Amino acid sequence: MSEDLNREGLKALYEKALSFLYTDEGPTKYSLKEYNKIENLFELKEKVVLRWLITRTTGRLKNEYGVKAITAARESRYRCKSCGYPDVRALHLDHIQGKIEDADFDCLCANCHNIKSRKYDWTGKPR
Ligand SMILES: [Zn+2]
Repeated sequence: MSEDLNREGLKALYEKALSFLYTDEGPTKYSLKEYNKIENLFELKEKVVLRWLITRTTGRLKNEYGVKAITAARESRYRCKSCGYPDVRALHLDHIQGKIEDADFDCLCANCHNIKSRKYDWTGKPR
């Protein structure tokens, strides 16, 4: 690899990623290019969450999600806000008020998100 980072460089990227995931004052974006350099340092659950949030804060879905997505995920402590389900593979970011501009998000598991979506349409109105 031509862009090998030294130990200190890897440590800095790793600490930045942990701060992105877990600290309220951490960065609200994380570069996929940087993440790819340190992906092997994470366990599967963190890989799932990092890719999920990088896409929504920095990648192709950043305009729909952005800072509010990482804030909601951190506040949830990566558990469903409704039932507490802890498996990150099933977490969704629910548009609380429907898919409106500048929507707020809740972290919900797939079951709770689907149940809510049966009660309310995509504009947030009761069905
Ligand atoms: Zn749930």
